[in-house]
Amino acid sequence: MDELQNQLNDQSLTILTIPEKGRCLFTARDFSPGEVILSDGPYVSVPNKNKESPESKCEWCFSSVNLKKCSACHVVYYCSSKCQKSDWKMHSVECQALKKVEQERLKLLTPSIRLMVRLCIRQKLEIQKILPTTARDNYKLIKALVSRILMYISEVNENQLVLYAQMANLVNLILQWPDSEINIKEIAGNFSKLACNAHTICDSELRPLGTGLYPVISVINHSCSPNSVLVFEDRLAVVRAMQQIPKGTEVSISYIELAGSTVTRQKALKEQYFFTCTCARCINLGQRDDIKESAILEGYRCKDSKCNGFLIRYSDNKGFVCQQCGLLRNKEEISQITNEVKCISEKASISLSSGCKNESILAYKMIEELQLKLCNPFSINLMRTRETLLKILMELQEWKEALSYCRLTIPTYERVYPSCHPLIGLQYYMSGKLEWLLGETEAAVRSLTKALDVLRITHGTKTSFMMELMSKLDEARAEASYMLRSRNGE
Ligand SMILES: [Zn+2]
Ligand SMILES: [Zn+2]
Ligand SMILES: [Zn+2]
Ligand SMILES: [Zn+2]
Repeated sequence: MDELQNQLNDQSLTILTIPEKGRCLFTARDFSPGEVILSDGPYVSVPNKNKESPESKCEWCFSSVNLKKCSACHVVYYCSSKCQKSDWKMHSVECQALKKVEQERLKLLTPSIRLMVRLCIRQKLEIQKILPTTARDNYKLIKALVSRILMYISEVNENQLVLYAQMANLVNLILQWPDSEINIKEIAGNFSKLACNAHTICDSELRPLGTGLYPVISVINHSCSPNSVLVFEDRLAVVRAMQQIPKGTEVSISYIELAGSTVTRQKALKEQYFFTCTCARCINLGQRDDIKESAILEGYRCKDSKCNGFLIRYSDNKGFVCQQCGLLRNKEEISQITNEVKCISEKASISLSSGCKNESILAYKMIEELQLKLCNPFSINLMRTRETLLKILMELQEWKEALSYCRLTIPTYERVYPSCHPLIGLQYYMSGKLEWLLGETEAAVRSLTKALDVLRITHGTKTSFMMELMSKLDEARAEASYMLRSRNGE
């Protein structure tokens, strides 16, 4: 740890242990927006393969192009011999084990089982000095990770611990190492650490690619109004300042989806990370402003369509009362619309999963219409419906309609996310690309400029993703000024 502390000191960072909070990362100098605070490769990582992301990916860089299967185990893929070589010391041991796994059991190789197999291998290679260790890349850091699940054992379902033990046994079955080389109890403990410390590795557009363990990044705590953001550049985790961070400030990122009321955010943190957030936003829980905001984001709108008031539950449970004009909206009317939404939602998702996109668009538009009657314009549910419509319309290449839905989501994004959140930048980027495609050049310049303003802070300027954004903006600007000149008859 001392060695790590020394290295972090060189980067103007310190780790402090605060009672009730545990380890925290603090700045030892000022950081400007967009500046890299910390960047690290994973101690171990694996690509994901699931319904949202069904394609195979390179074991090392997560690319899904030019893949070749490992000819020995037929389980892992690589996009190039360079990636295969980088992963070889780990995979050569893993490959021996995977080769022996029966076809039937291969199905049980979920990403978390595979990540744990890799963690065991990495630890062994470290002991054998086959893989080098550094101050920020060693098994001791994994040991130092805190498992909050174990701290709150009474609150956690016993079944979870039984499950971890079963998973540890499966890892043991896969590795088939002699008893002296494997500690099943430690593996079960590591599964509980993975549950609250593993990071989802995403591409530049925040689509999940894999899972990795970044022990130094894990020191950074959560806040619902974070001053920093974690993004990935291939396998590298990069933490950048989203705002001016003065010397002596705790560095914070967000662990969860920030679009939600305080109650919703706290529930997510409790369920996934086993702690109660006491950030600047959460300490307002139950105060007038917090109640208002949650009523706007997750509650109902006023019966009078011209009124912008927010509604609070009426004390004798008759319904909800507008805090601006005093109109009552009764419970029965609300639950009738809610049930209708629920019913159509089921149909919509069935037609979506069976590939009937046009049918599902009609259903989601009906839901949108009902939600406009039921919820406030900044409702998170309404935002989700519009996001779904946007996604389907993009797949159908209905650019014009997609653009209108993209534009509709932006005001809610700007309300629910910090002003420099990557999702805001990405939404402006999509809007800009659609406007450019539809010949709305001046609007495209405006949107792409906004996208660049946000994303240069969260994503830096050096990745191919950002280069593409900058060259699109240059092109759009050139075309806009050409159009302006020809309009002026020059
Ligand atoms: Zn690769
Ligand atoms: Zn192999
Ligand atoms: Zn919070
Ligand atoms: Zn009203």
